[in-house]
Formats: sequence, structure tokens, C-alpha cells
Amino acid sequence: MNDINTLVSPPRAEGQSGRSGTVPITVAYGDGIGPEIMEASLRVLMAGGADIAPETITIGEQLYLSGNTAGIDPGAWESLRRTRVFYKAPITTPQGGGYKSLNVTVRKTLGLYANIRPCRSYAPFVSTRHPGMDLVIVRENEEDLYAGIEHRQTDDVYQCLKLISRPGCEKINRYAFAYAQAYGRKKVTCFTKDNIMKLTDGLFHKVFREVAEAYPDIENEHWIIDIGAAKLADTPEAFDVLVMPNLYGDVLSDVAAQIAGSVGLAPSANIGEHCAMFEAIHGSAPRRAGKNSANPSGLLLAGVMMLVHIGQPEAAARVHNAWLRTIEDGIHTDDIFKPGVSKERVSTSAFADAVIARMGLTPVHLDSVAYTASGEAFPVPTASPRKPAVKELVGVDIFVHSTQPVEEIARRMQATITGGYELAMITNRGVKVWPQGLPETFCTDHWRCRFLAQPGQSFNPAMVVELLRRLTLSGVDFVKTEHLFTFDGEPGFSLGQGQ
Ligand code: NAD
Repeated sequence: MNDINTLVSPPRAEGQSGRSGTVPITVAYGDGIGPEIMEASLRVLMAGGADIAPETITIGEQLYLSGNTAGIDPGAWESLRRTRVFYKAPITTPQGGGYKSLNVTVRKTLGLYANIRPCRSYAPFVSTRHPGMDLVIVRENEEDLYAGIEHRQTDDVYQCLKLISRPGCEKINRYAFAYAQAYGRKKVTCFTKDNIMKLTDGLFHKVFREVAEAYPDIENEHWIIDIGAAKLADTPEAFDVLVMPNLYGDVLSDVAAQIAGSVGLAPSANIGEHCAMFEAIHGSAPRRAGKNSANPSGLLLAGVMMLVHIGQPEAAARVHNAWLRTIEDGIHTDDIFKPGVSKERVSTSAFADAVIARMGLTPVHLDSVAYTASGEAFPVPTASPRKPAVKELVGVDIFVHSTQPVEEIARRMQATITGGYELAMITNRGVKVWPQGLPETFCTDHWRCRFLAQPGQSFNPAMVVELLRRLTLSGVDFVKTEHLFTFDGEPGFSLGQGQ
């Protein structure tokens, strides 16, 4: 397949007139190589007949360093909410200093839940070990460890919350299957680590299976992420559409892009119910900045996806075909230049000139592209409403900061119990260490003490409050509590390892 299959029905802005008018889009030139590749990409898109009216916003490093830890200001949000289409070059997230990733902020604030990352090879014109590779990674874009909720809880222990929701799983899995159906793809593969994270990744896998049932004509399979990633790196041609939680999708799409030829070649579309954002998958490559040597292809092809999205398929195809012809003619930037394969090593701007010079031409060897849809391939999936489960409180996990031996911690915990519930276990970094722990287990200063209602007894929040009051009085340094519920009788919490 030679298209770069994006899309879904575009959320059209007020007054946005598709091909007949001039379509406002919000553009950010970004940091590092961003300005160079954005300038090159916009020049090519315009030369290809894109009917767009870019509105430039400033985001990223410049704002971060002026003290704006979000990296974006209110005026930029106004433009984004009005145009609902964002063409964005990569930005640099300064290390440390409390700066939050602007990419994550934009994706989550605008509800861009689906990150579509096509990765294909262009053999024999771009060197790769995987000439038959043509896959699309559909990465969940809002949840998982990207909730960014992190805490330091003790001297030794830090935590990051992994949040996975049923609506989030439904939307992304539906998107993956709807995408596969709309673009004639044959198989959807899910990667999770649900042998370990049985509740969070377990939910993702479960919803994948539920959604797959509605698509009997599309093959489906699931791999545990570790062996799945190994297979992806070894035989990427065995995959078609892949759907996975946020972090796995982030990592594996870089791997997939790189083994296809270069991380500099891969575009991405971030799709939500209201807005869409188009960007390269790579970062701001600060070491290449200002050298006019970066490959603008990822951002340019993201621009092609954007043109399809806003209903300009002819311009999209013209640009894409001219780009394919340029690649085929061996006009290559540094990252993909290979003696014997490439013909001419060119700069970022010279590559853009070469694509513009080929505008109107189609590739001779690679399949040419024709976009006929005006971005109406399928509606953006939403989550279905669900009846709330019957939820019952059955206990509480209390996390404690202590350097005392576990027997002493257990003794102090048991001394605070008022009746109707018991200390069921103590774990250290998830491993059960009381009762009957092993001396070999390495323990930190962070303990989870699980209190559970005794059989036939009920448990309620007032008992948690009383327990915490008594712990405070006895000088126990508790750092967090986590309520233990059953939902329709099913435990909503995992066991301790070794329990
Ligand atoms: P990177 O993707 O910027 O660079 C990784 C490697 O790929 C480097 O060797 C770089 O030279 C090369 N590379 C990347 N794009 C290229 C291109 N177009 N042409 C040629 N070579 C290219 O990743 P990084 O170094 O880990 O991150 C740099 C900065 O980018 C960080 O601040 C990071 O937070 C940010 N980042 C931003 C985005 C985004 O804005 N969407 C995504 C990822 C990383």
C-alpha cells in the first residue's frame, strides 16, 4: 500500500471552506531543527497547491525559558481552538526545572486520543533490512504513564501513576479497527504487558478483544509487548495495524520508523473528536539545529496527512507523489544518504527545492498515490455509555515510610486495628514480605500495609479515617492510602507478588 493512510472525518472549523476557500491552520515552527524543516515543508505544501492560511504561534523553548513552565500561552490556545488544525514542528522540552512536555499537554488538552504513525520502507531507494515493511502504529495518546502524576513518597521511593480508562481503551481500539477497515488493512495486532499489569494492560487487552468481535473480517492477534517488540524489530513485514498503550507506542514507533529507513521519514497524525495535530514523530534534534541538514520528510508527510484531513486530496497526492519521485531519484538528506543507493546528498532546503521541481510528476518504480476521499473515511470513534458497577469498599492499602524491620511495622499496624478487619499482608515494592517473607528480599523504606474486612464483616470510609487517626497518634508516617473496592463483586485491586 503506498498511501500514508490517515484519517477520519475532520472536525471542520467555523467558516472553514475546504478546497474553495483558504483554510486557516495553526502553525508552530518549534525548536532545534523545527524552523528549518517547517519552512521547507510549508514551501513544498504551498507549491503543491495547498489552500491553507497558516497562523503562526510561538510555543516551546522560548516560552519555557521565559518562565512559562507550560510552554504555551493563552493566545495560542485561542488559535488552536478556532482553527482546530495544528501543524507543529518538534519542540525541545528543557530537562528538569519542572517543565511539562508541551506535546503531551497539547494532545491531552485538545483530546487528541489517537496517534497514527505510518512506518513503511521505500526499498530499494532508501536502505533498509525490511523492504516489505508497511505498518501503521495506532498509539493511545492521552493515558498510561503520560498522566504525568509522579510523587516522591519516601527517602528512597518515587512513583509514577499509570492510568488506563475504559473509555480510553474503547476509543483507541475502535479507532484501530475502523482505520483498518477503512483502508483495507487485513490485521490488527495489540501489544500489552497484561501478564504483569493485569488490571491496566489487562483492560486494554480485554477491550481489544471486545472490539475485535465487531470486525470478523479483520484478523486480530495479541502479543505480550516484550516478544511483540522483538518480532516487530525482526520481521516488521508480519505486521499491519498495531494498537497499543501510550508508552509502548511511543517507543516502538521510533523503532519502526528507524528500521524502515530513518526516524526522519515518519509522519504522525494526532486525532481527536474536535481537533487534529500533525507532526513528525521525531524530536527537535538539537545537535543538527542550524545546519540545514535535517530531513524534512516526516513533517512534510504529516502535512500531506493534514491536507487529506482538511479536504484537499489532490494537493496531498501531488505533494506526496513529487516526494516519492524525489526519494526514488536518489536525492537524499544526510540521514538516509548511502553511497551506491543515493545519488545526491542534499541539505534540508535543497531537498525541498528538489520536491518542488518534481511537482506534477509521479514515481516510476514506487506506487504512486491517489487520495480520493476528502477526509471522510470514518467518523472519530467515541466511547459508549456504561451502567456504573456496584462498588463496595472492602479494605484499604496504607503506604508507610519506615526504616524499621517489617515485624515491628506489622506489630504497630496490628496495635491500631479496632475490629472487623485485619492486617492481611505487608509488601515492599509489591513483593509480600509479611507474613512469611524471605530474608533474601531486598526492602526499601516504602511499605504497603493491606487491611481487609474480615469474612462477613463490612468495611466503610469511617473505619479508614479512624485507622489513620490512630496511626497518626502512634507516630506512623503514612504517605498514601488506596481504597480497595470490588466492582460487581470482582476485586478492583491486584494481589501482592507471592501472596
Ligand atoms: P530526536 O528525535 O530529536 O533525535 C534523535 C536522533 O534522530 C538524533 O540523532 C537526531 O539527529 C536524529 N533525527 C531526528 N530527526 C531527524 C531528522 N528530521 N533528520 C535527520 N536526523 C534526525 O530525539 P531526542 O534527541 O531524544 O530529543 C531531542 C528533543 O526533542 C528533546 O527535548 C525531546 O524532548 C524533544 N522531542 C520532541 C518531540 C516533539 O516535539 N514531538 C518528540 C520527541 C522528542
